[in-house]
Amino acid sequence: MDFLSHALVGALIGEVSPKRIKHRQLKGALAAMSPDIANFFAYPYLGVKVGNTIPYAHPEDFYANTWIIDHWTWIPWEITHSLLFWGLIFMPLLLWSKKPLLFGVAYLSHILLDMPSHSGIWSTVPLYPFEFRFEGWFDAWAWSVPEAIMWATIPFVLWRIAAYTRVPSIDVLAWPSEHEVA
Ligand SMILES: [Zn+2]
Repeated sequence: MDFLSHALVGALIGEVSPKRIKHRQLKGALAAMSPDIANFFAYPYLGVKVGNTIPYAHPEDFYANTWIIDHWTWIPWEITHSLLFWGLIFMPLLLWSKKPLLFGVAYLSHILLDMPSHSGIWSTVPLYPFEFRFEGWFDAWAWSVPEAIMWATIPFVLWRIAAYTRVPSIDVLAWPSEHEVA
């Protein structure tokens, strides 16, 4: 998905987390956006390579330069979008540091939402480093800003409904911390 939808889904997960987690919506949004930090390698690299004034690559640059997926700058993205990375590195670190499960669930939402929304060679490799591409149905990552805003209304509305209807919070999302959660 695009960064806006990820952030809003994360905020929704934060919303249904126990209120004792401080800034829970913001934490959910940041955790749900975090796998794309790995874009800080391929986007500037390709942007410089194609001679853009601002060192940043646009979707059309990616479509015109499919070799990028074989370049090392693409690998961090494959790693952070891997369920194995989430299960074997991210979650153990999270539990070890006693941070609430909210972070882990919001991060997982990113991987799961990216699977259908990346297609063709841009598909995610959910069991990376094992080479199995999950063929998505569309390319949300290449949406224009108006398209991204239009689709982001869905998680935004769901988030606001959850906030106004005061759905019961999912207590396990605060686990393993017992009391006030930083
Ligand atoms: Zn992503």
